[in-house]
Amino acid sequence: MQKLNFTKDYHFFTVQGEGLHTGRPAIFLRLSGCNLRCEWVNSDGTTSLCDTPYSSHQPEKLLKSIDEVVEDIKSYPCKYVVITGGEPYLQKAIAPFISELKNLGYYVCIETNASIYFETEADFISMSPKLSTSCVDKSENYESHQKRRKNIEALASFTKQHDYQFKFVINTKDDLLEAKELIAEIEAKTSAIAKDKILLMPQAVTKKQLEEKSEQVIEWAMEFGYSFCDRMHIRIWNDKRGV
Ligand code: SF4
Repeated sequence: MQKLNFTKDYHFFTVQGEGLHTGRPAIFLRLSGCNLRCEWVNSDGTTSLCDTPYSSHQPEKLLKSIDEVVEDIKSYPCKYVVITGGEPYLQKAIAPFISELKNLGYYVCIETNASIYFETEADFISMSPKLSTSCVDKSENYESHQKRRKNIEALASFTKQHDYQFKFVINTKDDLLEAKELIAEIEAKTSAIAKDKILLMPQAVTKKQLEEKSEQVIEWAMEFGYSFCDRMHIRIWNDKRGV
């Protein structure tokens, strides 16, 4: 039987903290392993890794069959599942897993960097394509990161096959301009993307960083006609894991 690789505390019941479904009670399932290694430069010159390094930079390993996962989550009073990572699309077995969840009546949302595409029955795709500033140039992962992070064909396929949103991690105005160009490239392959599906999220892994950056990102959202995307979990629980 096919197994999926998760992080150690891979399932938890909480509310969705980001994006168009913010506030919705949700069962989170965190897969382990990512094809990228994000690392952002802060304004003071320090760097911040991805907010879930245990699923990407140092991926944990916990193999679970589809039946075991279904057993683990069945007592939660919720039918909204968010499959996140790491990068879920690294694991082909998510396709039969999602089909099984759909058979059991779950609504399935996938959170992905959208650099890999294949067909699944997921209801909603939350895409967070990584921009050129998502890896510092002195990182040993820089070249592989830059090569893998952008896949216009994959992004276009997601928009054609699913309901979706784009969540861009924004640090500087250059990030925003790059996001706008990326959207234009995707539109050239598909059709116009509604602005209310494009969300700007401050780059932050702590509550302090989020508070420092939110006002500027709100101003940019208003200037460009996109939506501001808060990060409720960081605002409430800071960098606590598994909430
Ligand atoms: S793509 Fe997402 S999970 Fe992977 S390293 Fe970047 S922020 Fe982390």
